[in-house]
Amino acid sequence: MYFTRKGILFIISGPSGVGKGTLKRALLSKMSDMRVSVSVTTRLPRDGEIEGKHYFFVNHHEFEEMKKRNEFLECAEVYTNSYGTPRSFVMDNLERGCDVLLEIDIQGALQVKHSMPSGVFIFISPPNMEELASRLLSRGQDSQDSIYLRLAASEDELKQIRCYDYLVINDEIDEALEKIKAIIVAERCRLENIDLR
Ligand code: 5GP
Repeated sequence: MYFTRKGILFIISGPSGVGKGTLKRALLSKMSDMRVSVSVTTRLPRDGEIEGKHYFFVNHHEFEEMKKRNEFLECAEVYTNSYGTPRSFVMDNLERGCDVLLEIDIQGALQVKHSMPSGVFIFISPPNMEELASRLLSRGQDSQDSIYLRLAASEDELKQIRCYDYLVINDEIDEALEKIKAIIVAERCRLENIDLR
């Protein structure tokens, strides 16, 4: 008897400012066998961001054309910019038996839940709203208005937790990371993800 495993789609999602990006980067540095999807966005590159590594940067017209061609597994408008997950990268890797990680917003995760319910949905939550506000302020990336908008949205977003499989509270980064790693390891051992011959 020998075993092969199906590729598993892991989705990390949660409110803006909760630390999803930091967790994803920390995770990838420890799990070289995880493929990470690079999203397409209409947002302008920030200092140090590299085309094809952090995002594929496109204009609105290009994004809309890709959407019309059904090239996105999911796409959403997140605070004035559009973001989408390229479908072919995800499907190709899963078919080859490779695990894929998406780090996307909650609207996008709900779309993926609809089309690929067998994915593993991990909700990253802040320990409380005060901490989320202080993280949004300290990353210095958003205007005061935008911070208010993100905090108001996150109140509603937290209500979507029930659509997810796991909840990880990102209070202390190393602890949250250990929890995500444990979820990944456990899902990889799940019999329904293994082909028995
Ligand atoms: P940022 O512009 O700060 O890199 O990302 C803004 C937000 O967009 C974050 O919450 C991030 O998770 C989300 N995001 C990044 N890529 C995608 C994507 O492909 N789809 C969706 N729905 N959200 C994304």
